[in-house]
Amino acid sequence: MENVLEKVSRALNKNNINALLFQNTPAAVDYLKSVLKAGETVTCGGSVTLAESGVYSLISNGDYNFLDRTKLSGEKMETAAFYKNTLSADSYFCSANAVTENGEIVNVDGMGNRITASAFGPERVFMIVGKNKIVKDLEEAFLRIKRVASPRNAVRLSLPTPCAKIGKCVSLLKSDKPGITDGCDSPYRICRDYLILGKQNDSKRITVLLVNEELGY
Ligand code: SF4
Repeated sequence: MENVLEKVSRALNKNNINALLFQNTPAAVDYLKSVLKAGETVTCGGSVTLAESGVYSLISNGDYNFLDRTKLSGEKMETAAFYKNTLSADSYFCSANAVTENGEIVNVDGMGNRITASAFGPERVFMIVGKNKIVKDLEEAFLRIKRVASPRNAVRLSLPTPCAKIGKCVSLLKSDKPGITDGCDSPYRICRDYLILGKQNDSKRITVLLVNEELGY
């Protein structure tokens, strides 16, 4: 019987998104080593999955021109220039907040840099996705973001949002189906802009590496 990762893989391929299955993260890293070219420009969005999987170590220490967001001083103009530059990278790396069984990829950003690069700009996009990110549909994807991804990322980044304190979005105290703009008005709000990647035009641009492990949140 087809397992859920195989089902998602088939749905992604149907949406012109290249999906590959890996039993573990070393196998996924070996694949990436085989397709990245020495000297190419690579960069990434902030991601626990990239760190846990070893992909961050590969792209930041390998024989590549790595655009390093951790070197930013926090100055506004410098940050804007850096993220505009990432759009011309050869390869962009990130994870997803959720991938549905229909092959839709859902991400939410506080600033929009990751969702912009995944939709447009870099020649190739590689998304590393653990089995814990798979959800049934878009409704579950949005709930996952409010129950898991946003609170845990807010804690990781030491952001004083309500979800960091109570472990879930405050919107869930009022409704079990909150809208994407429901929630707090904190200036540190982590969930502002949502992107759903659907059927792609270029079937070679986005590759999703589905890994049979729990990775990130
Ligand atoms: S709206 Fe506010 S409380 Fe809700 S998940 Fe986003 S940052 Fe957290």
